[in-house]
Amino acid sequence: MPPRSRSRLANSMTVKAEAPYLIALNLTERCNLACEHCYLDAKVMKEGAADELDTDELKGVIDEIASVGPEAMIVLTGGEPLLRRDIEELAAHASGLGLMVVIGSNGILLTPERVERLKRAGVAGVGLSVDSLDPDHHDSFRGRRGAWLKTMASIDACKAAGLAFQIHFSVTDDTAHEIDDMIAFARDAGAMVLNVFFMVCTGRAEKYTDISPEKYEAVLRRVAHAARDEERLMVRAKCAPPFQADRNGDRSGLANHLGPRL
Ligand code: SF4
Repeated sequence: MPPRSRSRLANSMTVKAEAPYLIALNLTERCNLACEHCYLDAKVMKEGAADELDTDELKGVIDEIASVGPEAMIVLTGGEPLLRRDIEELAAHASGLGLMVVIGSNGILLTPERVERLKRAGVAGVGLSVDSLDPDHHDSFRGRRGAWLKTMASIDACKAAGLAFQIHFSVTDDTAHEIDDMIAFARDAGAMVLNVFFMVCTGRAEKYTDISPEKYEAVLRRVAHAARDEERLMVRAKCAPPFQADRNGDRSGLANHLGPRL
């Protein structure tokens, strides 16, 4: 086959992949908490994992991400990403390339000064974990006394600085009954989004058998109602295959599927 025909055939067979619109980059396995449900089994607190990428290597990864998804949202997470001293440098690099930068944090280290530095680095928002409105339960789930109070202080710091934030609620059998209160809390706190996470049973979460089917469905229905009814707060289910949020994040597959039954 002549080269010209070959290249025409190759072009006609090329499948164009869509540009990614959301990419999570796990910057570290280190963490200052010891959550029971950590799917990464994060633990290497001080020394760092031997294979953790350095600043330049991560900038190279971010460059590649920007080249395939120039308008993507990039979530810098971990482990606990705020344990990295170069987090602001990495965020500034990504935002300088035009990416929308979000930090996924447990909220322990987000002081007002840190919030200001992240804003200056072009960070558009942060995701903070609140696993229960009962401080004792949250602390015991997260493996550190006082974690809940520090996360509440982080929320206050974001509000004071005008940095958008979303709340991540990992729902279990023990906390499924909190879903209504958690939606009200996120709304009243001024969160932009409430993400309700279901367990990914790997790492330390391997021992979880996940939430019971009845509670799973009840929580999903409540989330679907809230996704439809909340005016300012976006409510979404994550790691829940039956609940397929559409790409705008404002409708749910469950809501569409169940329709009038909801
Ligand atoms: S805060 Fe996140 S990374 Fe750290 S132990 Fe908990 S789940 Fe794992």
